[in-house]
Amino acid sequence: MSHHYGHVRAEQIKPQGEDAEKEAVDSEEQVASPDPSSITATTGTDASPGLCKQRGRGHNKPASCVKAAPDWPLRGPMAPAVINLNNPGFEQALHVKGSGSLLHGPSETNGNYLINRGPLETRREDGQSRKRRPVTVDTSKAKTSLEALKMSIKQLKWKEFPLGRRAPCDIYWHGVSFHDNENIVSGQVNKFPGMLEMLRKINMSRAVRTMQELFPEEYDFYPRSWILPEEYQLFATQIRLIKEKDAAVNPTFIVKPDGGSQGDGIYLIRDPADLKLVVGSQAKQAVVQEYIPKPLLIDKLKFDIRLYVLIKSLEPLEIYIAKEGLTRFCTEPYQEPSQKNLTHVFMHLTNYSLNVHSGNFVHSDSQNTGSKRTLSSVLYRLAAKGVDIKRVWSDIIALVIKTVIAVVPELKVYHQADIPPGKPGPTCFQILGFDILLMKNLKPVLLEVNSNPSMRIEHEQEVAPGVFEFVPSPVDEEVKVGVIRDTLRLMDPFHKKPVTSSQDKSREDIQMDGDPDSRSPDENQPSLCLKQVYPKYTKQFNHLRLVERIASLFIRFLGVKGNMRLGPTAFRTFIRTCKLSSSNFTMASVDILYIDITRRWAAAAADSREAGMGLQAFVEAFFYLAGRRFRSLSLRGQVVSLLELCEAQLGPQSEDRRSLSCGRAPQPRAVKTQTPCLTYSQLASPAPQRRAASQDNRPLQTLKPRTLRASVEN
Ligand code: ADP
Repeated sequence: MSHHYGHVRAEQIKPQGEDAEKEAVDSEEQVASPDPSSITATTGTDASPGLCKQRGRGHNKPASCVKAAPDWPLRGPMAPAVINLNNPGFEQALHVKGSGSLLHGPSETNGNYLINRGPLETRREDGQSRKRRPVTVDTSKAKTSLEALKMSIKQLKWKEFPLGRRAPCDIYWHGVSFHDNENIVSGQVNKFPGMLEMLRKINMSRAVRTMQELFPEEYDFYPRSWILPEEYQLFATQIRLIKEKDAAVNPTFIVKPDGGSQGDGIYLIRDPADLKLVVGSQAKQAVVQEYIPKPLLIDKLKFDIRLYVLIKSLEPLEIYIAKEGLTRFCTEPYQEPSQKNLTHVFMHLTNYSLNVHSGNFVHSDSQNTGSKRTLSSVLYRLAAKGVDIKRVWSDIIALVIKTVIAVVPELKVYHQADIPPGKPGPTCFQILGFDILLMKNLKPVLLEVNSNPSMRIEHEQEVAPGVFEFVPSPVDEEVKVGVIRDTLRLMDPFHKKPVTSSQDKSREDIQMDGDPDSRSPDENQPSLCLKQVYPKYTKQFNHLRLVERIASLFIRFLGVKGNMRLGPTAFRTFIRTCKLSSSNFTMASVDILYIDITRRWAAAAADSREAGMGLQAFVEAFFYLAGRRFRSLSLRGQVVSLLELCEAQLGPQSEDRRSLSCGRAPQPRAVKTQTPCLTYSQLASPAPQRRAASQDNRPLQTLKPRTLRASVEN
């Protein structure tokens, strides 16, 4: 067991309702017995030498002390090496009466602010407090997040139902998807319908690509990608042309199976002929992506960032980012890709699940060493070297908001199909795991987004030869419990505050500090480790929400609730209602357009159950119609003009959607020298052709010539 876990008196941490079985049959409206006399809050800034960490688990895990650190932000290179960004308050110390201990709430590791004041007290307007029932959480489907979830619930003194219960709960915590529990008609679920599907590698690439067509400069953080098998020819041709043009160019590509995770089935290639296109008799669905050859290194090792992002609501869109994240390190010193090293997974892939099997893997006992570290410890290290980490952080926030904006349109289609408006259903929220690579020039690159980021806080370790045990992982616990607990606090049904998009900070720089939006929903508790970034930065990003407006039109014409695809009649109705046909674009041409696009998309998504035109196909049709109608404009201009025309025909119901693009687009930043995706041309032709043509114009990064066969399959 880690030496970071010192001892703590059991009564200090004993949560209410520890017996899970008992809890499940407890009276539903039971008011938990708060212990308001047990703690009084005091304030202070630091309590050196250390802040005692407590583990709220039932199985006697001891506590540890970590060094206190000043609040975010880092103010200079002399910043300390250890800081917990998930404990943004650092200001509140809590005195436990009778124990003689001074517990430093938000400054403790993972923010275990053991507030034994009655968390279930609320203040009435007359200033008197009254008790309310605890928030109830169904954890029966939580799977691997269970341990961290239990700790969070205990810290909040909420009520856990580990076996579920017949009466509704306030919150349902699912391990995989929205559908883990069927027939939920109220409360809140921690998954959105369709998120799992949307964030698969192919769908995600398509969604970002659509945005790259509309906003090439804004979406240059995603490596150039091709979808296999459908774009194999395009990929092979483009690479051949690039190599013919300049024999010195020999880029590397990373191939990722569509449904894969944890590095499974990933391999690097330098020649399209090395693609493994078929498994058995089946064509393999995958994304092949430009490999970023020059990542930022620390201690000569490649690493990536796991950032936790909460989508609190789709409508209105609310996004929060965890101020603390993880960094996962490779275990073999990095070299740029070459024939010799393409198969070296421990050099090229940062996945924990792979590197943990390397003899060089170091389980991190502290936050700033080992193969998995906190993001803050890495940022401090970079700050100490003079890196402008405020800039890095604000680039990361921008990347996150833009990525969410790319996937929201399709999520809304799933949402209306699974939870039709007007019918009883739960509301949803979801924690996502963003995997981000920093390039050598500090530009963040999006690798992927996980709909089910691992929330495990323990790892398997060989404690004696041949004897494996699950042992606590302090770094994981540090970050993940904070994220889950503060997500719950934000979703607390008794503390819901309406969000107004008037919180807009027009043209304001994206900040990493002094954030009033991290205030606790309950003024008696420490501030949150989650920072609101949207709608806070609405003005900077609102103009990007064009596809969402197209999705609104799409949903409007879907007709029957529960549908996700537009039939030919509905498509005709759309054209008629928006008055888009004319003598040189007859309804017969409309039918041909529908058939042509729908067929092509059906072939691309062979596994799709429903016939008809899905959102992505509709977007392609919309781009085509926009191109026909407003030939002289850029693609973005065409789309905006057609949207305005359609929305005007549809009347006031669409007015609110229209306002989404009213903010002026900020000037694109100066082009950086090293970017994964370079310039796109904008051509007024249907998407696949436009895409093909535009990709031809994007030069790849220059690499030394080598033509090699390689496989890094696990
Ligand atoms: P998985 O879901 O299987 O983990 P990822 O997309 O996260 O798939 O890729 C696995 C690892 O491969 C990443 O953690 C990163 O280290 C590396 N990687 C992925 N894409 C790229 C890329 N385009 N350039 C460089 N490295 C990459």
